Amino acid sequence: MNKNMRIRYKITLAVGIAVTTVLVAMAVFFTYFQEQSVLKQNERTMEKLTESVAQGLQAVMLAGSADIAESYADRLKKVTDILDFRILRINGDEAFRDNKTIEDVNRRRGDETFAPRDSEMHVPVLPANDPSLLASVSEGRTIAVYEPGQDGHRNLTFLAPIKYADACSKCHGASGKVRGVIKLTTSLAAVERDIYEVRQYAIGGLALALAATMLLTGYMLGRTVVEPLEKVTNAMARVSGGDLNHQVPIHSRDELGNMASSFNRMTSELKTTYDGLRREQDKLTTIIHGAGEGIIVTDNTGEIVLVNPAAERLLEKSASQIATDGFRQILDNEEQMREWLSEGGSREPITTTYKDRVLQVFASTILGNDHNVVGSAALLRDITEEKRLEDELRRLSTTDGLTGLFNRRHLDNTLDTEYNRAARTGTSLAVVMFDIDHFKKFNDTHGHDQGDRVLQAVAHNFRDALRKYDLACRYGGEEFVGILPNTTLDGAYSVAERLRSDIEASEVDGLKVTISLGVAAFPQLAVVSPEGLIEAADAALYRSKAQGRNRTTRAEPPPAGSGPDQAGGTPDADTTQL
Ligand code: GH3
Ligand code: MG
Ligand code: MG
Repeated sequence: MNKNMRIRYKITLAVGIAVTTVLVAMAVFFTYFQEQSVLKQNERTMEKLTESVAQGLQAVMLAGSADIAESYADRLKKVTDILDFRILRINGDEAFRDNKTIEDVNRRRGDETFAPRDSEMHVPVLPANDPSLLASVSEGRTIAVYEPGQDGHRNLTFLAPIKYADACSKCHGASGKVRGVIKLTTSLAAVERDIYEVRQYAIGGLALALAATMLLTGYMLGRTVVEPLEKVTNAMARVSGGDLNHQVPIHSRDELGNMASSFNRMTSELKTTYDGLRREQDKLTTIIHGAGEGIIVTDNTGEIVLVNPAAERLLEKSASQIATDGFRQILDNEEQMREWLSEGGSREPITTTYKDRVLQVFASTILGNDHNVVGSAALLRDITEEKRLEDELRRLSTTDGLTGLFNRRHLDNTLDTEYNRAARTGTSLAVVMFDIDHFKKFNDTHGHDQGDRVLQAVAHNFRDALRKYDLACRYGGEEFVGILPNTTLDGAYSVAERLRSDIEASEVDGLKVTISLGVAAFPQLAVVSPEGLIEAADAALYRSKAQGRNRTTRAEPPPAGSGPDQAGGTPDADTTQL
């Protein structure tokens, strides 16, 4: 059966085959029995006719009118539908054709009652041993024989015995039970034509019944099964096309009605679930679109399926440009992205610089429930401002608010580092320390604000006096320390002296200050810690103060017997009075 055939035609075809089989079987059965019955009826009628003819002939013969019997037989031959009629002797020859019987009868009667025929002939009709003839003669009953005839129709031949009566012996003497046989042949053409006609009507009726059954079946199937089914399948098609509002009308309470109502329930459930999912998706979309972080998502083929506005803004590319470039080119660095994704994604956000922004990137592979890759995602966070604030904070935590120089905490950290480096590399590290002279008095005289401005001017001079890889720090109050890597004691001394003379020469609002300095250098001074270097410079500074201020003093090795970090010496030995 064709798979594309509609169900209506399939069922109609199946019903048609079943009905046809039953109707044909019934028609064959009834037609056969009807035909048999007609033939039997015909046979019985013709048998009766034949027997009555035999009896009539016998009566005529018994009356001694053989010539009447002969002419009766000749007339019968001419009756329509009687193909052949003959009176046979029991040996199968036709009677009334030769003079044998006439001569026998005249001889037995002893007279010349019956005149012999002028022309006689011997007509053998059946062989003497013909089984039907023998049966009719021996059993004394009429035998019916069906034989093929002309035009394809059959012939029916009766062999009816002419019984021997007592009166027969008067002419024919005593011999057997049967004197002769009547052979009557009729054509079954008319009967068979009738049967054929009936058969035609039966086939016509059959075809009509079949057509009516098929039409009725098709119509009923259409109304009760196919149309409801089509409604459900159409509804399914609409639902699968996205129309979840469609409901199938329910017209019956049978299985199809139940199916339609189950389908409607299922559609409602689907719609509720779909609406819920849609709402969640809308929420998610709103979140994704409103997010400050850039989000880019691909499907499992690597095709970019989602780019939010933040990503466009951060990457300074349109969504379509990002999609065209591809996921690995998001940051214009395919190699890096491949590296991140090859490990299933970056475990921790990676900070990278993209154009003039600092971005934090989190790239990951999205796995489904079955651990198959369903896509990739990249989350981009702009941390430029965060980074700037962090740097600012770091700067603030390491600098002094008034002078802008590094603060003491930073000094301690840097000195540690530089000391270790100098110790490791064998290079020289120098420290310059200075304090403003009589600053308390300055403040008292000119005010604290004026004192602050002087502090700022001194800091400015201090920074100018150092190289860019030196470190200028405000040590506290009006005390300052400079760290000078790769600088010998003499080098540091020169820097200190230049600074001292610069400050002495400069004015702030017409006012002048001087400073006193102390310098120390490692490894010239064999201190064992960074603090030792500071203490040595401080001691030298102390000596500058003690020797009259506005001068620089070199730190000296500690006198024998004192601690290793003690710098000292005779105040006048290494000071320069300006
Ligand atoms: P000396 O020559 O011995 O150093 O004398 P001095 O007066 O400078 O003595 P000292 O170093 O003990 O004095 C510190 C003074 O510096 C005290 C305070 O008035 C002043 N000072 C400390 N920090 C600041 C500051 O931040 N601003 C101002 N205007 N003055 C400060
Ligand atoms: Mg001081
Ligand atoms: Mg001072």
